[in-house]
Order: sequence, then structure tokens, then C-alpha cells
Amino acid sequence: MSADPNCIFCRIVRGEIPSKKAYEDDEVLVFHDINPAAPVHLLMVPKEHFETLADARPEHEHLLGKMMLLAPRLAREQGVTNGFRVVANNGPDGGQEVYHLHMHVLGGPRPWKRL
Ligand code: AMP
Ligand code: ZN
Repeated sequence: MSADPNCIFCRIVRGEIPSKKAYEDDEVLVFHDINPAAPVHLLMVPKEHFETLADARPEHEHLLGKMMLLAPRLAREQGVTNGFRVVANNGPDGGQEVYHLHMHVLGGPRPWKRL
């Protein structure tokens, strides 16, 4: 599985940088965003390093489907009852800051401020 030694999310996956975990399996880690834009703000990351959705390959189909199915389950587990957003920023014009693919899960009773 590929990893980038300098990538912040790879370092979180390896446990070198602490995170508040919400879910983990052999392929996916989910943790709370350090600068939340909503009352519930999770980041779902594949453990394998790839930068954007444009770098995903057919073999990632299962992984990406798993992440989409995790979103409603984890939102519910975090107490979200009235809807949520799933956001993936891709590339410079997509507003991506961390170049390790991730999906934001945003929920809670507040207008979305940033994403
Ligand atoms: P994006 O603009 O989609 O690349 O979003 C990157 C997100 O990662 C932002 O919402 C940051 O607040 C979040 N983030 C950056 N560093 C950390 C960290 N160490 N732990 C948790 N979230 C982080
Ligand atoms: Zn990475």
C-alpha cells in the first residue's frame, strides 16, 4: 500500500500525529476535523495514499463505495438526525488543502460555513 512520508494524513494513519478517531478498518480511517466547519465534521481517508479522486483507479471502486456507505452510518452514530453533507475537494480549483484523498462528512444544526 503506498504512503507518503511527509503527508499529514498518512502520518495520522500511521499514528505519528494524534487524531480523534471515529472509525477504522484495514482500508479506511475516519477522524474528527481539527478545525470543524459544522457541529459534526468527520474526515474519511483511505489508508492508501492517493492524492485526488482523479488518481483513483478501478481497483478503488470498493473502497470508494465503502466510504459513501460509511458516511450516513457514522453521521448517525455522531448524533446527526437531520441531514448531512459529503464533500470531496479536488485540486487547486476544488479548494483542496491536503493532497491525500478525503471526504468530509458535515452534519448538525448550523449553516455550512466553509465547504
Ligand atoms: P481540504 O481543504 O478538503 O483539503 O480539507 C483539509 C481538512 O483537513 C481541513 O478541514 C483541515 O481542518 C483538516 N485537517 C488538517 N490537519 C488536520 C489534522 N491534523 N487533524 C484533523 N484534521 C486536519
Ligand atoms: Zn497520504
